[in-house]
Amino acid sequence: MTPIPITGATRVLAIFGRPIIHVLSPMMHNAALTAGGVDAVLVPFSPPPEALEQSLRGIVAAGCAGLCITIPYKTAVVPMMDSLAPSARLAGAVNTVQVGADRQLSGYNTDVEGVLRCLRALKPRLRRRAVLLGAGGAARAAAAALALGGVERLTVLNRTLEKASALARDLAADGMAIDSAPLDFSNLARHLGEADLLVNTTSVGMYPQGRETPVPGNLLRPGLDVIDAIYRPEPTRLCREARATGAEAVTGLDWIIAQGAFALKHWLGLDADEAAMRTALVRYLTSES
Ligand code: NAP
Repeated sequence: MTPIPITGATRVLAIFGRPIIHVLSPMMHNAALTAGGVDAVLVPFSPPPEALEQSLRGIVAAGCAGLCITIPYKTAVVPMMDSLAPSARLAGAVNTVQVGADRQLSGYNTDVEGVLRCLRALKPRLRRRAVLLGAGGAARAAAAALALGGVERLTVLNRTLEKASALARDLAADGMAIDSAPLDFSNLARHLGEADLLVNTTSVGMYPQGRETPVPGNLLRPGLDVIDAIYRPEPTRLCREARATGAEAVTGLDWIIAQGAFALKHWLGLDADEAAMRTALVRYLTSES
Protein backbone atom coordinates (compact mmCIF):
# COMPACT_ATOMS: atom_id res chain seq x y z
CA MET A 1 0.00 0.00 0.00
CA THR A 2 1.38 3.46 -0.88
CA PRO A 3 1.80 5.86 2.05
CA ILE A 4 -0.23 9.06 1.85
CA PRO A 5 2.10 11.91 0.75
CA ILE A 6 3.19 14.23 3.58
CA THR A 7 1.65 17.67 3.13
CA GLY A 8 0.98 20.72 5.28
CA ALA A 9 -2.13 18.94 6.57
CA THR A 10 -0.33 15.79 7.80
CA ARG A 11 -0.62 15.20 11.55
CA VAL A 12 2.56 14.18 13.34
CA LEU A 13 2.77 11.51 16.05
CA ALA A 14 6.01 10.74 17.88
CA ILE A 15 7.78 8.05 19.83
CA PHE A 16 10.29 8.98 22.54
CA GLY A 17 12.85 6.39 23.69
CA ARG A 18 16.58 5.98 24.22
CA PRO A 19 18.04 4.08 22.44
CA ILE A 20 15.41 4.39 19.73
CA ILE A 21 17.00 2.42 16.91
CA HIS A 22 15.21 -0.93 17.49
CA VAL A 23 11.69 0.32 18.31
CA LEU A 24 8.88 -1.32 16.39
CA SER A 25 6.26 1.44 16.65
CA PRO A 26 7.21 3.37 13.49
CA MET A 27 6.75 0.27 11.30
CA MET A 28 3.63 -0.92 13.07
CA HIS A 29 1.81 2.40 13.47
CA ASN A 30 2.69 3.79 10.05
CA ALA A 31 1.41 0.57 8.45
CA ALA A 32 -1.92 1.04 10.26
CA LEU A 33 -2.09 4.73 9.27
CA THR A 34 -1.46 3.87 5.62
CA ALA A 35 -3.95 0.99 5.66
CA GLY A 36 -6.58 3.25 7.26
CA GLY A 37 -5.97 6.07 4.76
CA VAL A 38 -5.14 8.41 7.64
CA ASP A 39 -3.10 11.54 6.85
CA ALA A 40 -0.69 11.17 9.78
CA VAL A 41 2.83 9.89 10.34
CA LEU A 42 4.71 8.60 13.40
CA VAL A 43 8.38 9.56 13.76
CA PRO A 44 11.07 8.55 16.31
CA PHE A 45 12.91 10.87 18.73
CA SER A 46 15.62 10.14 21.29
CA PRO A 47 15.80 13.06 23.70
CA PRO A 48 18.48 12.86 26.42
CA PRO A 49 17.07 12.47 29.96
CA GLU A 50 17.85 16.08 30.94
CA ALA A 51 15.83 17.36 27.95
CA LEU A 52 12.89 14.94 28.27
CA GLU A 53 10.32 17.37 29.69
CA GLN A 54 11.43 20.23 27.44
CA SER A 55 11.19 17.92 24.41
CA LEU A 56 7.73 16.68 25.41
CA ARG A 57 6.36 20.18 26.05
CA GLY A 58 8.03 21.53 22.91
CA ILE A 59 6.74 18.88 20.52
CA VAL A 60 3.23 19.18 21.94
CA ALA A 61 3.34 23.00 21.67
CA ALA A 62 4.42 22.54 18.03
CA GLY A 63 1.27 20.51 17.32
CA CYS A 64 2.21 16.84 17.86
CA ALA A 65 -1.03 14.82 17.92
CA GLY A 66 0.11 12.08 20.34
CA LEU A 67 3.14 10.19 21.59
CA CYS A 68 4.38 6.70 22.38
CA ILE A 69 6.80 6.60 25.31
CA THR A 70 9.19 3.70 25.56
CA ILE A 71 12.22 2.56 27.57
CA PRO A 72 13.64 4.27 29.64
CA TYR A 73 11.04 7.06 29.94
CA LYS A 74 7.75 5.32 30.81
CA THR A 75 8.03 6.19 34.51
CA ALA A 76 9.75 9.56 34.10
CA VAL A 77 6.86 11.08 32.11
CA VAL A 78 4.22 10.18 34.73
CA PRO A 79 4.51 13.50 36.65
CA MET A 80 4.36 15.43 33.35
CA MET A 81 0.79 14.24 32.66
CA ASP A 82 -2.30 16.33 33.45
CA SER A 83 -4.31 13.15 34.04
CA LEU A 84 -3.69 9.40 34.25
CA ALA A 85 -5.93 6.58 33.07
CA PRO A 86 -6.37 3.70 35.58
CA SER A 87 -4.04 1.56 33.43
CA ALA A 88 -1.18 4.06 33.86
CA ARG A 89 -1.92 4.78 37.51
CA LEU A 90 -1.89 1.11 38.43
CA ALA A 91 1.26 0.29 36.46
CA GLY A 92 3.01 3.51 37.58
CA ALA A 93 4.06 4.04 33.96
CA VAL A 94 2.82 5.75 30.79
CA ASN A 95 3.48 4.46 27.29
CA THR A 96 0.87 6.49 25.39
CA VAL A 97 0.23 10.22 25.64
CA GLN A 98 -3.02 11.60 24.31
CA VAL A 99 -2.93 15.31 23.51
CA GLY A 100 -6.24 17.05 24.16
CA ALA A 101 -7.62 19.97 22.16
CA ASP A 102 -6.39 22.26 24.93
CA ARG A 103 -2.97 20.50 24.88
CA GLN A 104 -3.76 18.75 28.15
CA LEU A 105 -1.76 15.52 28.38
CA SER A 106 -3.54 12.28 29.31
CA GLY A 107 -1.32 9.31 30.14
CA TYR A 108 -2.38 5.77 29.27
CA ASN A 109 -0.64 2.44 29.54
CA THR A 110 -1.61 0.42 26.50
CA ASP A 111 0.78 -2.38 27.55
CA VAL A 112 -1.74 -2.92 30.36
CA GLU A 113 -4.72 -2.58 28.02
CA GLY A 114 -3.02 -4.99 25.58
CA VAL A 115 -2.51 -7.69 28.23
CA LEU A 116 -6.08 -7.24 29.40
CA ARG A 117 -7.27 -7.85 25.85
CA CYS A 118 -4.99 -10.92 25.57
CA LEU A 119 -6.44 -12.21 28.84
CA ARG A 120 -9.99 -11.78 27.53
CA ALA A 121 -9.06 -13.49 24.25
CA LEU A 122 -8.37 -16.72 26.12
CA LYS A 123 -11.32 -19.05 26.59
CA PRO A 124 -12.98 -18.18 29.88
CA ARG A 125 -11.60 -20.42 32.58
CA LEU A 126 -11.30 -19.72 36.26
CA ARG A 127 -8.35 -17.29 36.15
CA ARG A 128 -8.21 -17.32 39.88
CA ARG A 129 -4.52 -18.02 40.20
CA ALA A 130 -1.81 -16.66 37.96
CA VAL A 131 1.97 -16.92 37.96
CA LEU A 132 3.98 -14.03 36.54
CA LEU A 133 7.60 -14.55 35.49
CA GLY A 134 9.75 -11.41 35.58
CA ALA A 135 9.62 -8.15 37.49
CA GLY A 136 10.63 -5.47 34.98
CA GLY A 137 8.49 -2.93 33.13
CA ALA A 138 6.50 -5.51 31.17
CA ALA A 139 5.80 -7.43 34.40
CA ARG A 140 4.39 -4.31 36.07
CA ALA A 141 2.07 -3.75 33.11
CA ALA A 142 1.02 -7.42 33.15
CA ALA A 143 0.41 -7.41 36.92
CA ALA A 144 -1.76 -4.29 36.60
CA ALA A 145 -3.74 -5.94 33.79
CA LEU A 146 -4.26 -9.13 35.82
CA ALA A 147 -5.54 -7.03 38.75
CA LEU A 148 -7.93 -5.16 36.42
CA GLY A 149 -8.91 -8.50 34.83
CA GLY A 150 -10.10 -9.96 38.14
CA VAL A 151 -7.30 -12.45 38.91
CA GLU A 152 -7.60 -13.33 42.59
CA ARG A 153 -4.10 -14.45 43.44
CA LEU A 154 -0.79 -13.68 41.70
CA THR A 155 2.66 -15.11 42.40
CA VAL A 156 5.58 -13.16 40.95
CA LEU A 157 8.69 -15.25 40.29
CA ASN A 158 11.88 -13.43 39.35
CA ARG A 159 15.59 -14.18 39.15
CA THR A 160 16.24 -11.13 41.35
CA LEU A 161 13.90 -11.58 44.31
CA GLU A 162 14.11 -7.94 45.49
CA LYS A 163 12.52 -6.75 42.25
CA ALA A 164 9.69 -9.28 42.52
CA SER A 165 9.09 -8.26 46.15
CA ALA A 166 9.02 -4.56 45.20
CA LEU A 167 6.49 -5.27 42.43
CA ALA A 168 4.34 -7.30 44.83
CA ARG A 169 4.49 -4.45 47.39
CA ASP A 170 3.60 -1.75 44.83
CA LEU A 171 0.56 -3.62 43.47
CA ALA A 172 -0.61 -5.07 46.78
CA ALA A 173 -3.44 -2.63 47.38
CA ASP A 174 -5.61 -3.50 44.43
CA GLY A 175 -7.84 -6.40 45.49
CA MET A 176 -5.53 -9.10 44.15
CA ALA A 177 -3.49 -11.12 46.65
CA ILE A 178 0.10 -11.03 45.47
CA ASP A 179 3.28 -12.70 46.67
CA SER A 180 6.77 -13.23 45.34
CA ALA A 181 9.53 -15.85 45.28
CA PRO A 182 12.78 -16.57 43.46
CA LEU A 183 12.47 -17.95 39.92
CA ASP A 184 13.75 -21.52 40.25
CA PHE A 185 12.51 -25.00 39.36
CA SER A 186 10.98 -25.82 42.73
CA ASN A 187 8.98 -22.57 42.88
CA LEU A 188 7.87 -23.03 39.28
CA ALA A 189 6.70 -26.58 40.00
CA ARG A 190 4.92 -25.57 43.19
CA HIS A 191 3.16 -22.43 41.96
CA LEU A 192 2.36 -23.54 38.40
CA GLY A 193 0.74 -26.68 39.83
CA GLU A 194 -1.93 -24.47 41.45
CA ALA A 195 -2.30 -21.89 38.66
CA ASP A 196 -4.56 -21.59 35.62
CA LEU A 197 -2.59 -18.79 33.92
CA LEU A 198 1.13 -18.25 33.29
CA VAL A 199 2.43 -14.89 32.05
CA ASN A 200 6.06 -14.71 30.93
CA THR A 201 7.67 -11.28 30.94
CA THR A 202 11.29 -12.38 31.29
CA SER A 203 13.32 -11.95 28.14
CA VAL A 204 14.07 -15.70 28.08
CA GLY A 205 13.24 -17.19 24.67
CA MET A 206 13.74 -13.95 22.71
CA TYR A 207 15.64 -14.13 19.40
CA PRO A 208 18.48 -15.05 18.99
CA GLN A 209 17.95 -17.34 22.04
CA GLY A 210 14.73 -18.69 20.53
CA ARG A 211 15.46 -22.27 21.60
CA GLU A 212 15.28 -21.29 25.27
CA THR A 213 12.19 -21.36 27.43
CA PRO A 214 11.60 -20.00 30.94
CA VAL A 215 9.51 -23.07 31.91
CA PRO A 216 10.44 -26.74 31.46
CA GLY A 217 7.88 -28.39 29.19
CA ASN A 218 6.95 -31.02 31.81
CA LEU A 219 5.45 -28.28 34.02
CA LEU A 220 2.97 -27.23 31.32
CA ARG A 221 -0.49 -28.80 31.17
CA PRO A 222 -3.89 -28.36 29.49
CA GLY A 223 -5.40 -26.21 32.28
CA LEU A 224 -2.52 -23.74 32.29
CA ASP A 225 -2.97 -21.05 29.61
CA VAL A 226 -0.05 -18.82 28.66
CA ILE A 227 0.50 -15.18 27.75
CA ASP A 228 4.07 -14.55 26.54
CA ALA A 229 5.62 -11.08 26.17
CA ILE A 230 8.21 -12.39 23.72
CA TYR A 231 7.33 -11.54 20.11
CA ARG A 232 10.25 -13.14 18.32
CA PRO A 233 10.29 -15.99 17.34
CA GLU A 234 6.59 -16.20 16.61
CA PRO A 235 5.43 -18.37 18.32
CA THR A 236 8.00 -18.86 21.08
CA ARG A 237 9.02 -22.28 22.33
CA LEU A 238 6.97 -21.61 25.48
CA CYS A 239 3.81 -20.91 23.43
CA ARG A 240 4.41 -23.93 21.16
CA GLU A 241 4.91 -26.29 24.10
CA ALA A 242 1.86 -24.91 25.95
CA ARG A 243 -0.32 -25.37 22.84
CA ALA A 244 1.00 -28.92 22.42
CA THR A 245 -0.55 -29.82 25.80
CA GLY A 246 -3.93 -28.45 24.69
CA ALA A 247 -3.60 -25.18 26.62
CA GLU A 248 -4.15 -21.83 24.91
CA ALA A 249 -1.27 -19.42 24.36
CA VAL A 250 -1.26 -15.74 23.36
CA THR A 251 2.01 -14.56 21.87
CA GLY A 252 4.01 -11.38 22.36
CA LEU A 253 3.12 -10.37 18.80
CA ASP A 254 -0.58 -10.39 19.76
CA TRP A 255 0.26 -8.28 22.82
CA ILE A 256 2.35 -5.73 20.93
CA ILE A 257 -0.28 -5.33 18.20
CA ALA A 258 -3.02 -4.92 20.80
CA GLN A 259 -1.07 -2.21 22.63
CA GLY A 260 -0.34 -0.40 19.38
CA ALA A 261 -3.98 -0.56 18.30
CA PHE A 262 -5.13 0.93 21.62
CA ALA A 263 -2.66 3.81 21.16
CA LEU A 264 -4.11 4.63 17.71
CA LYS A 265 -7.59 4.57 19.24
CA HIS A 266 -6.53 7.01 21.99
CA TRP A 267 -4.75 9.42 19.61
CA LEU A 268 -7.03 9.44 16.57
CA GLY A 269 -10.11 7.36 17.38
CA LEU A 270 -8.87 4.93 14.72
CA ASP A 271 -9.95 1.28 14.61
CA ALA A 272 -6.59 0.05 13.41
CA ASP A 273 -6.12 -2.53 10.67
CA GLU A 274 -4.34 -5.09 12.84
CA ALA A 275 -3.60 -7.42 9.95
CA ALA A 276 -1.59 -4.62 8.30
CA MET A 277 0.26 -4.01 11.58
CA ARG A 278 1.07 -7.73 11.88
CA THR A 279 2.33 -7.95 8.30
CA ALA A 280 4.58 -4.90 8.77
CA LEU A 281 5.98 -6.22 12.05
CA VAL A 282 6.65 -9.72 10.76
CA ARG A 283 8.30 -8.32 7.62
CA TYR A 284 10.53 -6.00 9.68
CA LEU A 285 11.45 -8.63 12.29
CA THR A 286 12.27 -11.17 9.60
CA SER A 287 14.40 -8.67 7.66
CA GLU A 288 16.42 -7.92 10.83
CA SER A 289 17.81 -11.49 11.01
P1 NAP B 1 13.24 -5.46 31.84
O1 NAP B 1 12.60 -4.38 32.63
O2 NAP B 1 14.67 -5.35 31.45
O3 NAP B 1 13.02 -6.86 32.64
C1 NAP B 1 13.58 -8.06 32.14
C2 NAP B 1 13.10 -9.21 33.01
O4 NAP B 1 13.61 -10.43 32.47
C3 NAP B 1 13.60 -9.13 34.45
O5 NAP B 1 12.61 -9.63 35.32
C4 NAP B 1 14.83 -10.05 34.42
O6 NAP B 1 15.17 -10.59 35.68
C5 NAP B 1 14.35 -11.14 33.50
N1 NAP B 1 15.43 -11.88 32.88
C6 NAP B 1 16.29 -11.46 31.94
N2 NAP B 1 17.15 -12.46 31.60
C7 NAP B 1 16.80 -13.54 32.36
C8 NAP B 1 17.29 -14.87 32.47
N3 NAP B 1 18.32 -15.30 31.74
N4 NAP B 1 16.69 -15.71 33.35
C9 NAP B 1 15.63 -15.29 34.09
N5 NAP B 1 15.13 -14.03 34.04
C10 NAP B 1 15.70 -13.18 33.17
O7 NAP B 1 12.46 -5.68 30.46
P2 NAP B 1 10.90 -5.48 30.17
O8 NAP B 1 10.66 -4.13 29.62
O9 NAP B 1 10.14 -5.91 31.36
O10 NAP B 1 10.70 -6.51 28.95
C11 NAP B 1 10.84 -7.92 29.15
C12 NAP B 1 10.64 -8.64 27.83
O11 NAP B 1 9.31 -8.43 27.36
C13 NAP B 1 11.56 -8.10 26.72
O12 NAP B 1 12.04 -9.19 25.96
C14 NAP B 1 10.64 -7.19 25.90
O13 NAP B 1 11.04 -7.13 24.53
C15 NAP B 1 9.30 -7.90 26.04
N6 NAP B 1 8.14 -6.98 25.96
C16 NAP B 1 7.16 -7.28 25.07
C17 NAP B 1 6.05 -6.47 24.99
C18 NAP B 1 4.98 -6.79 23.99
O14 NAP B 1 4.16 -5.90 23.67
N7 NAP B 1 4.92 -8.01 23.49
C19 NAP B 1 5.90 -5.35 25.83
C20 NAP B 1 6.93 -5.08 26.73
C21 NAP B 1 8.05 -5.91 26.79
P3 NAP B 1 16.11 -9.77 36.71
O15 NAP B 1 15.21 -8.78 37.39
O16 NAP B 1 16.64 -10.80 37.61
O17 NAP B 1 17.18 -9.10 35.88
